[in-house]
Amino acid sequence: MPSKNAVTDIRTDQSYIAGRWVTPENGESFTLHEPATGAVSGQAVLCSETDLDDAVVAAKSVVSEGWGDNGLPQRISYLQKLIEILTKEQDSFARCIAFEVGAPIDFSLKQQVGTAIGHLQATLAAAQGLELDVTPNPGMPEHRERFEPAGIAGLITPWNWPLNQIALKFGAALIAGCPMILKPSEYTPRTSVLFAQCVDRIGLPRGVFSMVLGNGRIGSAMTSHKGIRVISFTGSTVVGRQIATAAAQDFKRVILELGGKSPNILFEDCDVDTAVRQGLAHCFRNAGQSCNAASLMLVQASIFDRVVDLAAEVARETQLGLPQQGGLHLGPVVSKAQFDRVQSLIGSALDQGARLVAGGQGRAEGYGAGYFVRPTVFADVTPDMRIAQEEVFGPVQAIVKFSTEAEAIALANSQDHGLAAYIQTGDPVRADRVARKLDVGMVQVNGNSRLPGAPFGGTKSSGIGRESGVWGIREYLEIKSISGAARQSDS
Ligand code: NDP
Repeated sequence: MPSKNAVTDIRTDQSYIAGRWVTPENGESFTLHEPATGAVSGQAVLCSETDLDDAVVAAKSVVSEGWGDNGLPQRISYLQKLIEILTKEQDSFARCIAFEVGAPIDFSLKQQVGTAIGHLQATLAAAQGLELDVTPNPGMPEHRERFEPAGIAGLITPWNWPLNQIALKFGAALIAGCPMILKPSEYTPRTSVLFAQCVDRIGLPRGVFSMVLGNGRIGSAMTSHKGIRVISFTGSTVVGRQIATAAAQDFKRVILELGGKSPNILFEDCDVDTAVRQGLAHCFRNAGQSCNAASLMLVQASIFDRVVDLAAEVARETQLGLPQQGGLHLGPVVSKAQFDRVQSLIGSALDQGARLVAGGQGRAEGYGAGYFVRPTVFADVTPDMRIAQEEVFGPVQAIVKFSTEAEAIALANSQDHGLAAYIQTGDPVRADRVARKLDVGMVQVNGNSRLPGAPFGGTKSSGIGRESGVWGIREYLEIKSISGAARQSDS
């Protein structure tokens, strides 16, 4: 991997507002740390409400100049250009994400960056088939349904998949014709700066896209800003609730992609070896920092002991490594705050009587610094324990025993969250039956991945709305019914 300098040279003292790089002047900054070492790696200069206002004014002016009125083919061509540029720059993004998030370099390239580009391609494919002005009855062309941009969109993104989450929101809002203001997590400003540099190269009219580096205060200012009509947020359930409450004051549209505690149900007729290895890999990927991590393994009683033994073995064999190293391994979690949060949840599981079979508290052996969590497995977890209910966001697998299919479904549905669920079974009839009964947004059976463009999102405390493909674009569109005026142009 090339030197760290290339990454630390990325400027984090500027934000991209209305097509220009500006240095915020309110004097607030955020100290950046490298997850792999804990060392200070720079300062991010944060925007104020004044900078946000500037971005909104520019977005309004581009709307008044006609952005979003028409020109879907043009918006598609901007997206095509962006995909080309991101593809050329994928190594730079991978290095940056490895440095900022601590994700291993191969994972950064194939998953973090690869998935982001894949999502943009799926958005592009959906856009190519999009009809924004529909005549439901061809015999009555003066009765139409028209899909129009829902307004200026505030995009608030977290640090765990820093490019992917921006890409999902940006692509959909661009195609819908919404000008947008991005507030990324201040833990990953470099990835956002690189992204804004790429957007700068596609030549959008000034004001269509701004990126304000900022903390939760700016996020909060966005949710109550009168000029912003849509808020798309990915992050914790706690902040999602605050955003929904604030946005309700002036009935902004909200898309909330929140946390999960996704059950992975292992029935006794599954391929145990594959299910356990895939399950642990899914739970531990990105050091456990994924909203859809399969962090709650529900295991049928007859295979329980075998599963626990194998899970402990897999966790013990899981290799940690510095993000810069090639090969599959586990990196650190993103920050000291995240490390402490994971430690506290491991502590709560011990206090509440869960049986520790691998890993445990403290920094992983062999690492004198950095935020390396030990790959951890708890057996005999009961549904009332915090480890069974709360999103850990670290490489920690909780295992719960069940007896019957009905009990497994009840356990899965007793979660406050409803993002994803995973089913492992050799019986296709059971797979279909259980998938239908789970109160979640996404179900994956026997390790099958979702297709590109499949809807991503959850139910209950996991949020509102869907991202990805045509579903993501729809969230940024308002529908207008027109009666008595036939369409006069292609726009
Ligand atoms: P947060 O939900 O606090 O942060 C996500 C984003 O929201 C960041 O850009 C953040 O800015 C911003 N934000 C914070 N407060 C507000 C507010 N009041 N209004 C608007 N925006 C706001 O996540 P954390 O980083 O604190 O992580 C805590 C936990 O959240 C994790 O342990 C994990 O369980 C969960 N999480 C879930 C994610 C998911 O993908 N579903 C992603 C990240 C976290 P700032 O960086 O300044 O806080």
